[in-house]
Amino acid sequence: MKPQGVLIAGNWKMNHTPKETEVFFEKLKIGIQSLDALAKASLDNEQIRVCVMPPMLCLQTALTKTKNMKVTIAAQNVHFEKKGAFTGEVSGPMLSELGINTVLIGHSERRHYFGETNETVTKKINSLLSQGFHIIACIGETKAERQHQETESVLKKQLDAIISDQALSQSQSLVIAYEPVWAIGTGLTATTKQVEEAHGFIRSVLTNKFANKSGNIAAQKISILYGGSVTVENFADLLHCENVDGGLIGGASLKPENMIEFIKIAARSSS
Ligand code: PEP
Repeated sequence: MKPQGVLIAGNWKMNHTPKETEVFFEKLKIGIQSLDALAKASLDNEQIRVCVMPPMLCLQTALTKTKNMKVTIAAQNVHFEKKGAFTGEVSGPMLSELGINTVLIGHSERRHYFGETNETVTKKINSLLSQGFHIIACIGETKAERQHQETESVLKKQLDAIISDQALSQSQSLVIAYEPVWAIGTGLTATTKQVEEAHGFIRSVLTNKFANKSGNIAAQKISILYGGSVTVENFADLLHCENVDGGLIGGASLKPENMIEFIKIAARSSS
């Protein structure tokens, strides 16, 4: 049993048009309605939480389609400034006016393709926390860093940047997603041993950071998601790992039937 429940977060990346978004949520709704009593109760009491991150252009459709569903719609990215000359960007106030209160920050694809750094990721986290958002913040090492035994030093550096004093004081709004870059969209999943080692390390860094603030309890309460080629086949094993509080799921989250399966797996694993 996970103290903070299980979070299933689907990152669509640049997939699904507004029409496809409608169809996705119609199917998801039917799937949720036909869940067994245990899974339904887990959604109702928020022991299992479902979050879907469609592209910006599909957020409104997703919000409309999920009005009476226990599904959080979140954005995949946001700018740290509230407004200004930042062509192509979207701000916190724009998202919040739409009804979005959760954002993904620092995904490795944003870091790799769009030049985001620990510094810009931290600016975004601090700005969005002060605007009242919930944040899913991504960290993870590249293949070369793992091969050079640098996994822990990379994770520590990323956490040092992300966990500012502000993040410490608003830790209830923060989720950390551990995503080894070499496992994202590659079909390569970290082994359960690698996952437990990384998540245990992340938890210990968080515990140290909170030592002089709100204490260990706050550190324990931060959900740590695993991401990197999660499938309906490997999700149960990943959830059994200590300090894994859910999944950040890319490719496999694009199909509503998979999302239903993830909910069922989470319900079985928490019973
Ligand atoms: C992701 O988008 O964060 C991700 C982990 O993708 P995938 O599940 O496809 O590897």
